[in-house]
Amino acid sequence: MNWDELIDTAKDMDAIEPHDWARRMRSVRLRTRGKSTFREKREFTVAGIQHLLGIVGAGKSTLRDVLTVHLARQGGRITVVVGDVAETLELVRLYNLYTGGKAAPILGASGKERHAQRMHRRLAGRGEANVLAHKDPGFSYLGTSCVLNTLLSDQDDVLAFNQAPCTRLHRRTVRPDARRKWSTVPVTCPYWVGCPRYRGAHELVQATIWVSTPAGLVDAAIPHPQNAEKIRYLEAACRRSDLVIIDEADRVQMQLDRMFAPAVTLVGGSDSRSLLDDLVGHKTRELFEGARTQLSDHDVEVWTAAVNTITTTTDRLYAMLVADRDLREWVRTGYFSAWTLQLRLIEERYPDDATDVEEPRRDLTDLLDEFRDNPFGDRAGKVTPELTALVNEVLTTGRQPATRRKLTDFLVELFDLSRF
Ligand code: SF4
Repeated sequence: MNWDELIDTAKDMDAIEPHDWARRMRSVRLRTRGKSTFREKREFTVAGIQHLLGIVGAGKSTLRDVLTVHLARQGGRITVVVGDVAETLELVRLYNLYTGGKAAPILGASGKERHAQRMHRRLAGRGEANVLAHKDPGFSYLGTSCVLNTLLSDQDDVLAFNQAPCTRLHRRTVRPDARRKWSTVPVTCPYWVGCPRYRGAHELVQATIWVSTPAGLVDAAIPHPQNAEKIRYLEAACRRSDLVIIDEADRVQMQLDRMFAPAVTLVGGSDSRSLLDDLVGHKTRELFEGARTQLSDHDVEVWTAAVNTITTTTDRLYAMLVADRDLREWVRTGYFSAWTLQLRLIEERYPDDATDVEEPRRDLTDLLDEFRDNPFGDRAGKVTPELTALVNEVLTTGRQPATRRKLTDFLVELFDLSRF
């Protein structure tokens, strides 16, 4: 990048809407890393991961904005990550002004109502009390209305935000002899392409500047009518961007760490929060409030079934652990997984220093690997029918002594323990 070219861009920006860009750029001193020290340079290269450090007011945000506009004008694709939705919308307004409409925001759907309220409050705080007079262009990306409400009868309640059936409509069957009145294949709402609720998503397709918050990038997915592949905007931004600029990278790193949960308790006692208990509570509350209508969505149904299976499995494991001191001591404290238990069981049965164990150990490892990859036999690839049948019985049995006997016999054979 050439510094003088950036100042030229800044002058152009001032000519469109003056914000003192050129003067601010001239006052910025950029020092890049040399062999042994940092030197001021009129040219610099942005490649790989680079940090831009500077005290408050040093001009980092100025450089961010001028660089973004400069690259976008040259056809570059840039993603800018900032701290909050208000800044996102303001930057989109500015970038659109300076690039002729090349910018669009990535906003999660769930917080739109909240963000709109905040924007109203902020404008009211600046002296405009009449909500109808609030004209910030950012509002056009925060639309929550649904046209289908106009088709409802007077007796129907207005659709809540999360009830809009955007990709879950069903066609009426046209054949007079059809068994069903409604097709089972969901289709996208015919108003989708013009729906104000999806304005951001529509514009993101052509936009070369994407602006978002970390939460927007991680939470929001590209809508199904635009892309059949299930993909979050974070993944799309990584794939398509020539440059990703992250404002306040240390704070964003903390947010990402929190979102991706580097260390949480999966299942815990009454004195600590646990992920599974939170999930189960959340699932029960949401299904109750939605009268289980969410289960019409295949993904929700699959997720709910998975949570139920995990809960059942956890309860079975806990029942064994709390009832058996020797088992608790064998498992020891801390976490365990199917993989760590498998390693320990195989190591105890076929220790490294034993002779003639290589082949049986390999056979047992292969079989348990296949079982771990496909415990319920419902995925493509190899299946282990006997183990799958047994695990299903263990999870659902009401006759535990009989199942335990069956399991013991099976494990004696599997681990070749009959001569001990
Ligand atoms: S896409 Fe259709 S169903 Fe969804 S909010 Fe817009 S008008 Fe309503």
